[in-house]
Amino acid sequence: MMVVGDISTGTDLAVIGAGPGGYAAALRAAQLDVDVTLIEKDAVGGVCLNYGCIPSKALISATDVAYEAATAEDRGVYASPSVDMAEMVDWKDGVVDQLTDGVRRLCESTGVHVVEGRAEFADEHTLRVAHGGEGQGSESFEFEHAIVATGSRPVELPGFAFDGEHVIDSRAALELTEIPDDVVVVGAGYIGMELSTVLAKLGTDVTVVEMLDEALPGFPTDVSRPVQERAEALGVEFVFGEAASEWTETDEGITVVTEDADGEESEFYTEKALVAVGRQPVTDSLNLSAVGLETDDDGFLETDHQCRTAVDHVFAIGDVSGEPMLAHAASHEGEVAAEVVAGEPAALDQQAVPAAVFTDPEVGVVGLTRAEAEAEGFDPVVGRFPFAANGRALTTGDTDGFVRIVADEDSGFVLGGQAVGPEASELIAEIGLAVEMGATLEDVAATVHTHPTLSEATMEAAKHALGEAIHIRNR
Ligand code: FAD
Repeated sequence: MMVVGDISTGTDLAVIGAGPGGYAAALRAAQLDVDVTLIEKDAVGGVCLNYGCIPSKALISATDVAYEAATAEDRGVYASPSVDMAEMVDWKDGVVDQLTDGVRRLCESTGVHVVEGRAEFADEHTLRVAHGGEGQGSESFEFEHAIVATGSRPVELPGFAFDGEHVIDSRAALELTEIPDDVVVVGAGYIGMELSTVLAKLGTDVTVVEMLDEALPGFPTDVSRPVQERAEALGVEFVFGEAASEWTETDEGITVVTEDADGEESEFYTEKALVAVGRQPVTDSLNLSAVGLETDDDGFLETDHQCRTAVDHVFAIGDVSGEPMLAHAASHEGEVAAEVVAGEPAALDQQAVPAAVFTDPEVGVVGLTRAEAEAEGFDPVVGRFPFAANGRALTTGDTDGFVRIVADEDSGFVLGGQAVGPEASELIAEIGLAVEMGATLEDVAATVHTHPTLSEATMEAAKHALGEAIHIRNR
């Protein structure tokens, strides 16, 4: 339907949302000479660059500079750094700006047409884009193909509406210009644990309330346990098996009430509650029925191995299409969808998608655990190498944790790995490559690794699985 004064533009591909899924899709499509329009209602870079991965990692690393300096007396370093939170957040914002400017410039130079505004479907081949601000009007795009990349937003707990002051989400936590005295963090998933760790290192009294009975639920226990123990050593108090049920304002801050499975209540007095209990897809404002699409009960769009939805010319990528809700998965899916739109025989055929948690120590996982390998009918062999036996880890004073590699005993094919410890987020890439390439334990073990590096732990884990580790006893 045309509205008087409406401008309508034709485009081969309309990408809705410029997060790591959407902008990667747009850039890849433009590389393949597809005429592409990228529509973003807020900020190019999406949650990842503006409010998620990048700002959290910037604050984690800046905090670690101070924390490391303050805790290195055993290494002969005496320092009492003070942190100016507002300046730290300014620096973080500079990092974000540098990255988002870079993406915007890449879009310009690659020929991606970037449009600011909120898109919704008007019919099977038309999007209406409302520009922000009064009197800014709207325009329509007639598209051949569309990619929905509208991402996710934090789940709000009943009774805990985000008010930006007493009850905050992860985005607000990354914008705090003063270090809070105390915070109750609701949810011990990866976002809750990363933020709890950073706040505890900054001196905040942190209480983590988690309904389940451990931190980082879903990760293998021997991987999540060192993270929980280090957090406890930093002063984080864990309250497991309880759910946050309500809060009230007090003179000094707020009282958070929690409830266990028997309905027993506890109260926690705190400055703020930071709620990080998961993320939900942003699909409700897209008028999906106009294009003939519906979501599943949780609001996600179902897709096939080419990221295609139930409507042939509409694709969905990233958080909006479900787990794994991770930036690198979004980008990979975006590139695949763009290639399919360009007529290439692309499909999602990756063997494994890694995941990392940037706590202290870090966690990295990829592919199968031993139990998952057994469940899939493999006869797994496992090798494990502790950082305590790795020279490089000793030189950094960071020796907690291990690298584990899981392989199929008969063929030697590497099936997965788990790491907890220094740079685990980086180390897991090598095991990911091994899984993807069909490398064997021998391939990893026989690859000469630089000394002294943490990556030698991966090589030694592969050797350990073969009974040939040099720096630890073999079984
Ligand atoms: P998003 O990044 O959510 O982008 C979607 C974009 O679509 C947004 O910019 C939004 O404004 C826009 N949009 C929505 N609706 C419309 C509309 N109707 N019209 C126009 N535009 C629209 N992942 C990792 O892999 N590693 C990490 O370390 C990591 N850390 C995180 C830390 C935090 C605190 C958080 C919150 C998330 C973190 N994530 C991390 C998750 C990661 O941010 C997401 O998986 C990723 O951003 C998903 O990308 P996406 O492109 O699907 O969507």
